[in-house]
Amino acid sequence: MLDFTLSKQQEEVRQHAREFALKEILPVAWYYDEIDEIPTYILEKAFNEGLMNSDIPTEYGGKGYGLVEGALMTEEISAACPGLATSIFDNSLGMEPLILSNNEALKKKYLTKIANEFKLICFATSEPTMGSDVSGIRCKAEKDGDDYILNGTKFWITNGGIADYMTVFATVDPKSKHKGICAFLVERDWEGVSVGKHIPKLGQRCSNTAGLNFKNVRVPKENVIAPPGEGFLLAMKTFSRTRPIIGSFAVGAARSAMEYAIDYAKKRQAFGMNISNFQAIQFKIAEMYQKVETSRLMTWKAAWEADNGIDPTITASITKFYVTESAMEVLNDALQVFAGYGYTRFFPIEKLLRDTRLFTIYEGTSEIQRGIVAGYALNSYESVMPPLDDLPVTRFESGMHRKPDETTTDSTPLWRCRMCGYIHEGDEPPEECPYCFFPKTAFKKVWPEEK
Ligand SMILES: Cc1cc2nc3c(=O)[nH]c(=O)nc-3n(C[C@H](O)[C@H](O)[C@H](O)COP(=O)(O)OP(=O)(O)OC[C@H]3O[C@@H](n4cnc5c(N)ncnc54)[C@H](O)[C@@H]3O)c2cc1C
Repeated sequence: MLDFTLSKQQEEVRQHAREFALKEILPVAWYYDEIDEIPTYILEKAFNEGLMNSDIPTEYGGKGYGLVEGALMTEEISAACPGLATSIFDNSLGMEPLILSNNEALKKKYLTKIANEFKLICFATSEPTMGSDVSGIRCKAEKDGDDYILNGTKFWITNGGIADYMTVFATVDPKSKHKGICAFLVERDWEGVSVGKHIPKLGQRCSNTAGLNFKNVRVPKENVIAPPGEGFLLAMKTFSRTRPIIGSFAVGAARSAMEYAIDYAKKRQAFGMNISNFQAIQFKIAEMYQKVETSRLMTWKAAWEADNGIDPTITASITKFYVTESAMEVLNDALQVFAGYGYTRFFPIEKLLRDTRLFTIYEGTSEIQRGIVAGYALNSYESVMPPLDDLPVTRFESGMHRKPDETTTDSTPLWRCRMCGYIHEGDEPPEECPYCFFPKTAFKKVWPEEK
C-alpha cells in the first residue's frame, strides 16, 4: 500500500504548528536575528503548546509521536524561522541517544522530567578540533570506581549556553577511535561544567550556539547512556533519526522563500508588466515549486521509514544532502526574483538564505552524506541488472540485430571484449580487439553459454 494522505491527527498537528509559527514566531524572528539572541520564552511557549519533545514515548509521559509528525511540525516552524526551529527541535536531538539506549532508569528519570517540565537538553559530539570525524573525539572519560571523570571541550553546541542537560560523547582512549567512544547524560549544574559565550554566526542567529567545557566532572554510573565501544554506533543511529528532520527545516525555509517570491513576482512591474509574465521568472518559480515538492517527498519517506522500523540511514543521508542543497538553490532563485530588494534586510529572503546555509553543514556535511550514500551504492546495494560482462548479446547480420536463441540457424560462437564491450563472431576470439587492441585473453565466450 502506498498512501500520501495525512491522518486527521497529522493534519491537526500540522495546523497547530502552523498557527503557532505564524502567531508566535514570525512576528519576532527578524528582531532576534538582528540582536543575535535566542528568545528562550518562545521555546517555553513551544513546550507549553506541545510542539517540543513530541517524540518522547508515552510511557515516560510524552506524546509518542513519530518522525512524520515531527517533520510536519518542523516544516511549519522553520518556515517562520529556521533558527528557532533548530533550537526547538534540538531537544529531540539531545534526547534521541537516551531514547535509543537501554538505560531504563535513566530514561525514566530524565525523559519524564523533560516531558513534564520546561527543560532543555543539548547534543554534543563536535569539538574545536573535529566535527565530521566523530571517531576523532578527544574529550576524555576516565573510569574512577564505577563513575567516570570527564575532561575536555565540546564546540558548536546548539542550545549549549541555555541547556539544563547535555548528552555528551567522550572517549576512554582517543587512540582507540570508534572503540573508545561512550556517551553520558550530564547536568549543567554539576561541578566542573561551564559554558562558553554565544558564538556569533552568519545565520540562525535566533539559535544559541556555544562551547561546553568539562573540568574533572564526575559522572555517576547511573548517567552512562552508552558504555565505551557503544557510543559511536549510538551517535550514528541518532543521526539516522534526526537527519530527516533537517530535511523538514530545509523544506520549510524553501517553501517560505518560494511563497514570498511568488507574491513579489505577481506585484513587481518591469517593462510595463508584472515580472511573473516573463518566462525566465516563471521557470524559476516552477523549479522552486518542483524542489519544494520533491524535497518534502524525500523527507517524508525518510521519516516514514524510521517510523516503520526500516533502517532510515541511507534515505536520511540522501534527504540531508538533496533537500538542503535544493533549499539553497530555491533561496538563491528567490533572491534573484527579488533582485535588488532581495539583497536588502527589509525583505525576509536574505535572512532565510543565511539561515538555510547551515543545513548543509550541521548533523553531517553534504560531503559526509555523499560518502555514506556512495559507500552503500558501491558495497551493499543489490543491482537488478546483470553485470556488464553478462549482458545478453545480439548478433549483427546484414545490418539487423538478431537474438542468438534457438531460432538462430547460425551457431557460430560470440565473444565479448571485456574491455570495450565489442562482440566478436567466430569459432575463436580474435588475436586482438579491432577496437581497443586488447589481446585475445580479454575476450569472454558469451554464446552459446558454457555449461
Ligand atoms: C550553527 C551550528 C550548530 C551546530 N550544532 C551542533 C550540535 O548541537 N552538536 C554537535 O555536536 N555539533 C554541532 N555542530 C557542529 C557540526 O555538526 C559540524 O560543524 C559539522 O559536523 C562539520 O564539522 P566541522 O565544522 O568540524 O568541519 P570538518 O569536519 O573540519 O570538515 C571541513 C570540511 O571538510 C570536509 N570533510 C571532512 N571529512 C571529509 C571526508 N571524509 N570526505 C569528504 N569531505 C570531508 C567537510 O565536509 C567540510 O567541507 C554545529 C555547527 C554549527 C555551525
